Amino acid sequence: MSADCLFCKIANGDIPAKLVHEDDMAVAFEDIKPVAPVHILVIPRKHIPTVDDIEPEDSQAVGHLFQVAKKIACERGLAENGYRLVFNCKADAGQLVYHIHLHLLGGRKFNWPPG
Ligand code: AMP
Ligand code: ZN
Repeated sequence: MSADCLFCKIANGDIPAKLVHEDDMAVAFEDIKPVAPVHILVIPRKHIPTVDDIEPEDSQAVGHLFQVAKKIACERGLAENGYRLVFNCKADAGQLVYHIHLHLLGGRKFNWPPG
């Protein structure tokens, strides 16, 4: 837990969010500024600032984010047409919140390569 971290506060319930999943390792909630019909952020409860800070002992918690994302994608009917999962790491990728979060994006077609 980092005292000045927005996503730690959401995970702890100190700041409200539209939660879609919660367990002992991860929390998922609706992105406040969605860029697709489905835009959900999946975060570990542990405060890890960037992908670059993931340690070997975080492997289970980070792997679990994909299990949660996949489950939500299935529930939202995205499994057949597909969806996009994104981690932005640091400035060049446009990371704004320094607590890792897996973007689950779906419900429309996405370009490749990204902008
Ligand atoms: P990134 O640019 O990868 O760091 O993404 C940060 C994401 O967090 C953006 O898509 C924001 O819209 C989203 N976001 C910022 N504040 C909140 C909040 N209070 N609740 C939900 N999503 C948020
Ligand atoms: Zn945090």
